[in-house]
Amino acid sequence: MKVLKFGGSSLKDVASIKTVARIISSTKELRVVVFSAFAGVTDRLSNFLVECQRQGAEDRIRKFISQLKNEHLSLLEKSVPAKGERQTVYNLLTNSFNRLERFLYGVSYVEEISPRSRDLILSFGERFAVAIMSAALGRFGIRNRPFEADTIGMITDGDFGNATVILPVATKNLRRLFLPLLKSDVTPLVTGFFGCDSESRTTTFGRGGSDYSASVIAYALDARQLEIWKDVDGFLSVSPEIVQDRSQSRLSRRGTYAGKASRLLDVLSYDEAAELAYFGAEILHPRMVEPAMLKDIPIIIRNTFNPAKKGTAIIKKGYETKGVVKSIAYDQNIAVLKIHGAGVGYKLGALHDIVSHISKSGINIKSVITSQTCINLLLAKEDLDLAYQALHKAHIRVIEHLEKVKDIALIGIVGEGLVKTKGLAARVFGAVATAAVNVEMISAGASSVAYYFIIKEKGDALTRAIKAIHSEFFK
Ligand code: ASP
Ligand code: MG
Repeated sequence: MKVLKFGGSSLKDVASIKTVARIISSTKELRVVVFSAFAGVTDRLSNFLVECQRQGAEDRIRKFISQLKNEHLSLLEKSVPAKGERQTVYNLLTNSFNRLERFLYGVSYVEEISPRSRDLILSFGERFAVAIMSAALGRFGIRNRPFEADTIGMITDGDFGNATVILPVATKNLRRLFLPLLKSDVTPLVTGFFGCDSESRTTTFGRGGSDYSASVIAYALDARQLEIWKDVDGFLSVSPEIVQDRSQSRLSRRGTYAGKASRLLDVLSYDEAAELAYFGAEILHPRMVEPAMLKDIPIIIRNTFNPAKKGTAIIKKGYETKGVVKSIAYDQNIAVLKIHGAGVGYKLGALHDIVSHISKSGINIKSVITSQTCINLLLAKEDLDLAYQALHKAHIRVIEHLEKVKDIALIGIVGEGLVKTKGLAARVFGAVATAAVNVEMISAGASSVAYYFIIKEKGDALTRAIKAIHSEFFK
């Protein structure tokens, strides 16, 4: 039994819907398929949410809904020409669009959006996609049943925007629902990106969360394999942008860089893939590796538009390459909050107080680097001010002053054997120094396959540093 997941990059028009249908129908074993929203839809919902938090947004809401609805209906009509065959899905879609429209009015009336309503509204892209895919696959003779993941017992911890599935509970529910269907050769189609808390409130797994959904389903059903279908050949981990000498301001905020521009990584260990995803490879959701890893299920990244390619396999057993370094990832969307105070690093409970105040404001701390007199919290850029205010208001005694550090970037180096290889760090930092880039902070040893450091982002420092490391290791 396999779980297949198709992301928005594989679902962009009628032609790609057909391509996806062909891939599914040529998968001869039993399968469950997970879909994300169609390309760009979640982004549009997310952007529109900002705009509609004002009274008097009715006109804009109507326009937004009618545009989005027309686009989806046109995809449905084109992929299922016979009216009779698409009627059920048509009704389902109309219903969903009405619901979404009402929620948006609600946001505009109260002029604010709570994490709970945000999750609910963002989840609609997946609902539309699964409905349309159900009709489209039916035409290809694939017997299927669509499911919205907040009605199937995919129970989460209720952390809106960054929920985690409670695996034992979800496993029981998903098995009960899906195993009989699979037995009678019906393919369940499931919305990715969200589940629900114990009170049936929709909770998303964070952006890109459909990968995580698929991994959870693979875990629950003891899948033989989990396939993540994208529009790249695999864990390219290449930032063609850096190779192409793009100016730094035009780089994506996060990315990876490995070897030559066209280099594809055939095999990665779970640890390597998880670290790369964590550091900035936007190719995978940062927490998606975990459920599959718990049951040793191989994750294969494949290209919808180039299915002849084998892709990247992510498996348990790591291997060390000759150069040790497999990939270089970067993240420009980071900031550091420096917490100064004599002895903050060793005073009992100081770190606990700080972390709990930050967590209470819903901010995710990416990493912590401490010394005796300073605790450095690594955060996403957009969280910096909120974290600063949270601690400022908290009046924690040991804190003498807070400092925001913005213009920085993170570089992560990943490869099995990295930490234990003698002289490797010296080569990395030697290369960075030759490029005349200053290293501000280093964290090593937390994982045996990765470390990262932070540089001052000035001019094209990030590109220079990565290129220098690259030519040191991949000459
Ligand atoms: N549609 C969601 C997003 O864009 C989830 C996903 O794509 O995996 O973040
Ligand atoms: Mg995605």
